[in-house]
Amino acid sequence: MKNIIITIDGHSACGKSTLAKSLASKLNYLYIDSGAMYRAVSLFFKRSDLISRNYELKNGFQKALDNVSIDFSDANIDGKNFVTLNKEIVEDEIRNIEISNLVSHVSKNSLVRKKMVAIQQSYGLKSNVVMDGRDIGSVVFPNATIKLWVTASVEKRAYRRWLEYQNKGESILLKKVIENLTFRDKNDENRTESPLVRPLNSIEINNTSLNAAETLENALILIKKHLEN
Ligand code: C5P
Repeated sequence: MKNIIITIDGHSACGKSTLAKSLASKLNYLYIDSGAMYRAVSLFFKRSDLISRNYELKNGFQKALDNVSIDFSDANIDGKNFVTLNKEIVEDEIRNIEISNLVSHVSKNSLVRKKMVAIQQSYGLKSNVVMDGRDIGSVVFPNATIKLWVTASVEKRAYRRWLEYQNKGESILLKKVIENLTFRDKNDENRTESPLVRPLNSIEINNTSLNAAETLENALILIKKHLEN
């Protein structure tokens, strides 16, 4: 039997991961955070000194990429598994502003994308999956069972991300978070390789004025309706 694949795409910090995580836990599906994979590769290139000052990948990155392993840990705490880089859990290291600034440069690279997409598709062969990202409904799983497109105003998105940084004790101006989101949105939308687009046949959830529980409730209603048809 074909596995059920739920894709969730949208701009940075629109609440995709929160929704994907809670959907996966509610439905007992595997949750894959594809953004975490691009962040882990960025961390790998940074540690290996393979990113130049002007954010180009240095010579030798391709060989290093061939040998890197990006996966998820089996530890499933609160419905969440953690991204691993060569078997090391790097969940905390990838969530800072430095990696947030590097990642959209790294994710533009076609070889990086090719490797990540192949890994992402392999999860869909193993299990029912909820996967969130920028190209999941358009490129990774164009024939997904159901595709969600999550959206919210940039001010609301930035505020939510800023709160996350505050809660982790990382002090940053809201203005800097807005700058980072706007920059990443633009880069993600305008890159040649798999730009961020609203996937064909996707269903929109605008959560500007919804909290996480309301967003989940809306998504569950939509999914139930869709699966019944
Ligand atoms: O979702 P998150 O904000 O963690 O993603 C970090 C970055 O990874 C994005 O800004 C984007 O450049 C890249 N990304 C991507 N394709 C995906 C998921 C994330 O290019 N499917």
